[in-house]
Amino acid sequence: MRLKDRAAIVTGAASGIGRATAQLFADEGAHVLAVDLPHKNLRAAHAEHETILCFEKSVADADAADLILEAAAAKFHRLDILVNNAGIAFNQRIEDVTDDAWERTFEVNVTAQMHLCRHAVPVLKQSPAGRIINVASVMAEGTDYGLSAYCASKAAVAGLTRTLALELGKFGITANYLEPGAIRTGMTSPLWNARPEVAEVWAKKAALRRLGEPVDLARAALFLASDDAGFVTGHGLVVDGGLMLRV
Ligand code: NAD
Repeated sequence: MRLKDRAAIVTGAASGIGRATAQLFADEGAHVLAVDLPHKNLRAAHAEHETILCFEKSVADADAADLILEAAAAKFHRLDILVNNAGIAFNQRIEDVTDDAWERTFEVNVTAQMHLCRHAVPVLKQSPAGRIINVASVMAEGTDYGLSAYCASKAAVAGLTRTLALELGKFGITANYLEPGAIRTGMTSPLWNARPEVAEVWAKKAALRRLGEPVDLARAALFLASDDAGFVTGHGLVVDGGLMLRV
């Protein structure tokens, strides 16, 4: 049990990486507040896990950080781990990028992460092993067609997290970010199911010759959340099966 009696918040926990992370953390002894949008069948996703408490809320709402931290405090009376995982992506070439899509991408992928970090820090300071894990992407460093807003938002997550690491180290809080590669989740499956040849291209690009699964990221998040990563901070952990190795 690597997270015995720790309390964690995981956002975007109804699907994909967030769902797998909430469940692995619970399996490892943590109490988890799983957050996702109201219409996402969050409760059904975690029905078999007694130590996962579900909280339906958009992380982009103005009162989200307040209400999410309040719910965690009421239930757990502590907080040790914050996983900012909720994220969205639009595919629009630069001449078609709408202000709405750009702003929404930053609201969900960046501003909501910052709000949750800001609200969580006073509580994380009370933890003997405070952890912030923000989910970025290999697109924080690389790019692809149509992903200007997404790439810019994930680069912002990297910069935000490095700064958190610097500012919060003296309180014993680590802050790291994950850089997933091509992972089979709710974000990617609709396209890959409709066009399997696209999934095949991504799989072949990776040194390990396969797509990532949500549990690959959950295991990396578990490492960063655990005592094993007590001296790791400000780090971007690439979990992509070697996708980005070739220039
Ligand atoms: P997913 O769509 O399966 O899961 C994302 C979850 O976030 C969904 O359940 C969704 O409802 C939730 N969410 C979206 N907006 C929200 C909001 N405003 N409030 C609360 N919840 C919200 O996708 P995923 O691939 O598991 O994505 C998780 C993270 O991983 C995202 O930050 C994504 O950018 C990142 N990522 C994914 C990949 C990939 O290949 N799948 C690659 C790199 C990075």
